[in-house]
Amino acid sequence: MRKTHNPAMSEADPLPAPPRPTAPQSAPARALERLGLTTPEALALHLPLRYEDETRLTPVARARPGVAVVVEGQIEDARVESRPRRQFLVTLRDAAGDRLILRFVHFYPSHQKTLAPGQRVRAHGEVRPGFFGHEMIHPTFKVVDADAPLADSLTPVYPSSAQLPQAYLRKAVASGLQRADLAEILPPNTVPAGLPPLRQALAFLHHPPADARLAPLEDRSHPAWQRLKFEELLAQQLSQMQARRARAQLAAPELPSREGALREQLLAALPFALTDAQQRVCAEIAADLATGRPMHRLLQGDVGAGKTVVAALSAAVAMDAGWQCALMAPTEILAEQHFAKLVQWLEPLGVKVAWLTGSRKGKARKQALDALASGGAALAVGTHAVIQDDVQFARLGLAIVDEQHRFGVEQRLRLRRKLQAEGRATLEPHLLMMSATPIPRTLAMTYYADLEVSTLDQLPPGRTPIVTKVFADTRRTEVIERIRDEVARGRQVYWVCPLIEESDGEDLSGKSMAELRNVTETHALLSEALPGVQVGLLHGRLPPVEKATVMAGFSAGVLGVLVATTVIEVGVDVPNASLMVIEHADRFGLAQLHQLRGRVGRGSVASVCVLLYSGPLSETGKQRLRAMVETTDGFEIARRDLEIRGPGDFMGARQSGDALLRFADVTQDAALLAQARHVAPLLLDRHPQAAAAQVARWLGQRAEFLKA
Ligand code: ADP
Ligand code: MG
Repeated sequence: MRKTHNPAMSEADPLPAPPRPTAPQSAPARALERLGLTTPEALALHLPLRYEDETRLTPVARARPGVAVVVEGQIEDARVESRPRRQFLVTLRDAAGDRLILRFVHFYPSHQKTLAPGQRVRAHGEVRPGFFGHEMIHPTFKVVDADAPLADSLTPVYPSSAQLPQAYLRKAVASGLQRADLAEILPPNTVPAGLPPLRQALAFLHHPPADARLAPLEDRSHPAWQRLKFEELLAQQLSQMQARRARAQLAAPELPSREGALREQLLAALPFALTDAQQRVCAEIAADLATGRPMHRLLQGDVGAGKTVVAALSAAVAMDAGWQCALMAPTEILAEQHFAKLVQWLEPLGVKVAWLTGSRKGKARKQALDALASGGAALAVGTHAVIQDDVQFARLGLAIVDEQHRFGVEQRLRLRRKLQAEGRATLEPHLLMMSATPIPRTLAMTYYADLEVSTLDQLPPGRTPIVTKVFADTRRTEVIERIRDEVARGRQVYWVCPLIEESDGEDLSGKSMAELRNVTETHALLSEALPGVQVGLLHGRLPPVEKATVMAGFSAGVLGVLVATTVIEVGVDVPNASLMVIEHADRFGLAQLHQLRGRVGRGSVASVCVLLYSGPLSETGKQRLRAMVETTDGFEIARRDLEIRGPGDFMGARQSGDALLRFADVTQDAALLAQARHVAPLLLDRHPQAAAAQVARWLGQRAEFLKA
């Protein structure tokens, strides 16, 4: 019964349409293409979501409600009713004489033609008690002869689209599976014991035998699934190891740390001593910079851990050796803040800093470009404007990317190309990436296997932990009272409203209009409720100059309250701020809430974060808010975030959708991941051709993105 007939899947003719001579492509063929199922290999890897058991018949009397079964019987009666609504009712009588109604609320003349009295029919669906007795609603069905054979394997149900009937897709996949090149690439001793060959694994997953247990297929623990996951994880490890080895072949400037030089002067001038963790990561970075091979290091540290000063000290090492350095931040506000800080730290020591952002144009931009091209400026600070093609460095030795997870894949690829271009002119620059979103270990091993990772696992001393409270929106007045007290004590307050996208020049959508209203209305409301307090307003739609002025006003303490969208999410550093109110907190992601909260608790004063929510909370909303109350540890937050969201979503920013793992789930498949990590170097060393073929088969174009 492989050729089922599902009217819900298609409009006019429920059977797969034969190719029409005039139109080169049928609608289902186009739908296949839209799903990317254009090669036999792609089809073979299009795996079932679930299975239907059409290998045996169930007597009507034995069908249990809620369990899909196949029943067979003779049609006794078929008619269109108009009450209680228009519908097509077919009465089926099975061998035992029990009756079942097949009910169609959507139907076509073809149904009436096929399901005529006297026909023998097999119907697949769930039986339930209904208006007319036992019934099946919109079953899939097929007219059969009396002794037609049953399916000998479970029937796969594939992810599909409205234009693509399952029957058509099943045929296409079965044919793809036949034609696909699934030759074993991996030498047998590199595959974990007990896993079937690839072709066998796929054949099994597409057509499990009638007696296969469904549970290990559904939870993907079956050896056939394990084989697929292993293949995929291995390809990904190989690709990252290849990238790492290729980089090790490149030459980079040797940047030894010298005594008594800029780095030490900067250290001496700082108003604080480095924490042990900062000293350790500085040493790790300095060791990389001295090797003459390009560094590719991720510095992760919770919000407020003090990454900026590590960046400045690393830049000082590069500049000491006579090379330039570029520091890039994801937003203008953050870039501006870095610029101010670095100028304050480094200009007294004789370093010239160039500032580049998208909004800095004309003469100012030209001057900055000239200074970098001539080598007059040793340091460039800015947004992604720093890596535009027309920005030429005399001798770029080190690029630093702050909050790197906030840059899109496109910008990361552009950065890589920029570094390669600069590298062709001189030597490949070193790269230091910084992120306040700690990546759980298994994810780091999967997605960042081509990176060295340094971790700042210690906050600077004297911080008082932030207390987080969750309030219903109805308690706003209380919260405003609290703001009044805080400001009266000379402290400052953030009030965050949901986001207005910081994008250039495009029209405001209805949604962002509403959000704009939200943030401006809140600003008006707080200004009125807090007479005598200066309330600032900051959102992505303000012109850059205005943003800068508002931010400067808040930094200087002139503004007591700052009403802002998430433009302040990353990096903003005003240690005197001690209260953060987040409105509609349930709409934010966990990582984002943690980042926002990190704007307070940056000084020695005890800080509070208030999470306001309105209306009933969703289950995940509740989990997120609970996590925020229970912990302020970024690693714990990341772990819970991964748990709530799953790894695909978690890594979304880096992987841009289709570069994600399709089959493996690194939270569940840690053991396979460990094996893939073990096998990858052996394969690269002993079977380089197999390694290359494996990467090409599984990643193809996506390998590029994984390196971004
Ligand atoms: P993040 O890691 O979130 O980027 P920052 O670099 O902005 O953190 O540092 C947070 C605050 O801590 C800043 O005000 C910074 O000057 C301060 N800071 C950094 N390192 C230390 C330290 N070792 N002792 C005291 N304060 C420090
Ligand atoms: Mg920072």
